Amino acid sequence: MDLKRICAGWLIDGTGGAILRNGVMEITGERILSVSRMDPGARNPGEVLDFSGCTLIPGLIDCHVHLCMSGTTDMTVREKQLTAGFDEAGLSIARHLDQGLDCGVVAVRDAGDRFGHTLRFKQEKFKNTLFPLRLTSAGKAWHASGRYGSLIGRPPEKGESLAQAIERTSLGIDCVKIVNSGVNSMIRYGRQTLPQFNTEELEKATQAARARGLPVMVHANGVEPVLSAVSARVQSIEHGFFMGTENLKRMRDQGVTWVPTAFAMKALADPAVCKIRILVKDGSKYLPHTPVEAHIQKVAEQTLAHQLDQIREAKEIGVKIALGTDSGSIGVNHGVSMVQELSLLLESGLPIQEAIHCATEVGAALLGLEGLGTLAPGKEATFLVVKGAPNKLPESLRQINAFYVKGKRILPPLIY
Ligand SMILES: [Zn+2]
Repeated sequence: MDLKRICAGWLIDGTGGAILRNGVMEITGERILSVSRMDPGARNPGEVLDFSGCTLIPGLIDCHVHLCMSGTTDMTVREKQLTAGFDEAGLSIARHLDQGLDCGVVAVRDAGDRFGHTLRFKQEKFKNTLFPLRLTSAGKAWHASGRYGSLIGRPPEKGESLAQAIERTSLGIDCVKIVNSGVNSMIRYGRQTLPQFNTEELEKATQAARARGLPVMVHANGVEPVLSAVSARVQSIEHGFFMGTENLKRMRDQGVTWVPTAFAMKALADPAVCKIRILVKDGSKYLPHTPVEAHIQKVAEQTLAHQLDQIREAKEIGVKIALGTDSGSIGVNHGVSMVQELSLLLESGLPIQEAIHCATEVGAALLGLEGLGTLAPGKEATFLVVKGAPNKLPESLRQINAFYVKGKRILPPLIY
């Protein structure tokens, strides 16, 4: 019998409930058999793995990444990544998946790239292989003609509605990604953009996706763009900066999940990143330390603070929050961004078990990964062991002690 008993000093099961002190998880084959408190008198059969000085958590799920891009702040490198062909992009994608595994990420949802390389990678390289992680992909995103979004997608063709475009191209993707606003202004704090599509267009698009069994994820910042997406009953709002209290309440009432991607904004407040964002040029050289740079930094910091307030409010209201890092954005590196986003969820006031809940059970539900998300009987034995008590999280994720996927111990890197 292949029964293993995993003894852990602390066990966080992914449900957001109380942390189990001195927990025992029994696994057999690929599955979890039981989770309970340790009974010192018990004499059970099977192999015992002692992690009594460690914390056990479920494998982590990142609901928003861009695998073709790294978090590099070098604009020449970014340009190269943006225009790379499939073979070159494939190497980046594999490296970024490995970087995720290094920090315990067992499933990601790719939110789009302009050539659909990630979808092709999944179809060609993931087929019939036993990679220990799950990749779901939106393929190329949709944006309105002339609006923001060309870095990760394309507009419907001339004379074609968004719904028709989805009907024409949905083969092979795991979800539909729609861009319904601009990005946050780094010049004017809180400036909002108009929706890219109206509620009716979004409703028809959502119906077209649903008819194909596909959930819809929507990039939306600001009151109006979020309102039209939520009214169209999409599955998730990505980013959602400045969406406001009323939208949060609507999201709770309609069961829409929020993916706040807060660290992507914190990355922009980094002085090194501000430098490359500024548009003030002296010939071919960027001017260092201009007033513009300081201004951008200030706006990014204010925008981040507002987003953390919204997360606090969402928690009080009862909105489902899933963790997404937006890895691949400027200054947001695959893998470590999981640690950084979890830190911000803690900073917004969530206790560690609830932050982990966002990165496990809520994410698994959003991505439709039934076997993942919690440590409970019948679920996959996919979990991490990190040194120390839960108060060492999320930093302890930078050096994972043991990593099991479907009951087998794995040692990254596995792909690259
Ligand atoms: Zn994104």
